[in-house]
Amino acid sequence: MFRRLILLGPPGGGKGTQAGLLAEKYSLYHISTGEVLRRAVREESELGRKVEEILSRGDLVPDELMVDIIKENLTEDRATDGFILDGFPRTVPQAQALKENGVEIDRVLFLDVPRDVLVKRLKGRRECPSCKSIINAESSSVLDDGACPQCGEKLERREDDTEETINKRLEIYFRRTHPLIDFYRQRGLLVDIDGDQNPEMVFQEICDALE
Ligand code: AMP
Repeated sequence: MFRRLILLGPPGGGKGTQAGLLAEKYSLYHISTGEVLRRAVREESELGRKVEEILSRGDLVPDELMVDIIKENLTEDRATDGFILDGFPRTVPQAQALKENGVEIDRVLFLDVPRDVLVKRLKGRRECPSCKSIINAESSSVLDDGACPQCGEKLERREDDTEETINKRLEIYFRRTHPLIDFYRQRGLLVDIDGDQNPEMVFQEICDALE
């Protein structure tokens, strides 16, 4: 079983949902760099103050800062039995830094989703601040101010899920993150997953690729 994984894909591609399912099924340490950064902003830590504006603009946080964050997380005890990186690497230098730091990767799961589907999903995406469930408002008829179907908490829209920021994040994705597909394909690590299906079917395809 492959246990050192990267989930690669565009914003709205389903990385967070699939990483959560994988972490639970295979007891992997789920490292979401976006969540680490958003938590730092909420807690108003030094890191949070540095990245707050970058996140709300939809830009990428500088590589050096991200590499420090990932190194710190990967040295935790719970990473030794396997991990799933959700949102890292996002640039070729970040991927090179993993290798330079001796981090071996077994599989890179690429969630492929057409651009028009991504825009629709990001506009309708809501998150539960309490249990972190990710809800698609369009498919589940959750209205603004709706309640989380899992725990009842009031759902929130991510600050970077506005129309302008969505377009910018997608543009940055295609320019800076998309080249990682070839990077990992050339190294024989990439698995293409059809991300344009319901989450259960995507998960099944991922599990089939890992076992
Ligand atoms: P995500 O939750 O993965 O969509 O990440 C939210 C935001 O966090 C991104 O739009 C970036 O601003 C920042 N971020 C997360 N991971 C990275 C990364 N590996 N490199 C640079 N910025 C990142």
